[in-house]
Amino acid sequence: MITRNVNACIRDIQKHRFQDGSGTQTVVHLKGCPLYCISCPDPEIRNPGVRLVWDPIRARHFEDGRIYSVQEVLELCLDTPDSLGKTAERVLLTGGEALMQHSFVYELLSRLKEREVHTAVETTGYVIQSQFTKLLPLIDHLIFNVKHYEREMHRKITGVYNDLIIENLRNSLNSPSEVEVRLTLIPGLNDRPEDAEGFSRLLQRIGVKQVQLLPFINQAAPSGRQKTPDNASPLSEVEMAAYQDALQSHHMDCS
Ligand code: SF4
Repeated sequence: MITRNVNACIRDIQKHRFQDGSGTQTVVHLKGCPLYCISCPDPEIRNPGVRLVWDPIRARHFEDGRIYSVQEVLELCLDTPDSLGKTAERVLLTGGEALMQHSFVYELLSRLKEREVHTAVETTGYVIQSQFTKLLPLIDHLIFNVKHYEREMHRKITGVYNDLIIENLRNSLNSPSEVEVRLTLIPGLNDRPEDAEGFSRLLQRIGVKQVQLLPFINQAAPSGRQKTPDNASPLSEVEMAAYQDALQSHHMDCS
């Protein structure tokens, strides 16, 4: 099929081997995100265009993002070998919000599926429902990052209500995609035992049976800037285990 000429702004395209050595994955980091998370470690990626950003470490400006066509990304994913001479067996699209540049994502995923490449997408789920529904059949593995269970609190910490996100998550559970729900525990925002209960109640109501817990990692943005909520430090292993216990006590499996 002829690839439609759609472009997207992409931060980075990386290849790496899976830890178990079972294959090679290409990770495509798309720019743009409609959320305003107060814990966002990388606010620069929110802008969906190419931007000039100051790098305080190298003391110079650099271009954050580059415009790629679908064909260019396909060639980079499928034809360019990694350091061990392997080409990608799986392509993961992430962001920002990977689905914000949805026309490009639709074309890219369609072409990957034609070539029988395993496709994975990491999303916040904040995507217009009709666009999300159109993309779902093209996604083998959907990684759904849920930020908060309570709608007012969700708006307070991300700038948007979670109604659309919950509806898209519910729909994805009825699709052929393998859905992985991730909760990133952010100190002071969603890390109390009562938050574990709140997540369990919401997620069970829509049919989620298992979640993956992740600690908040204070990554450096390309500009070198780091940002956390006030007094935030990642949860210790003991605190993570306690949260896991709290989820399980409310009948939610987690890893
Ligand atoms: S969804 Fe991710 S990229 Fe978007 S604002 Fe939140 S933390 Fe930043």
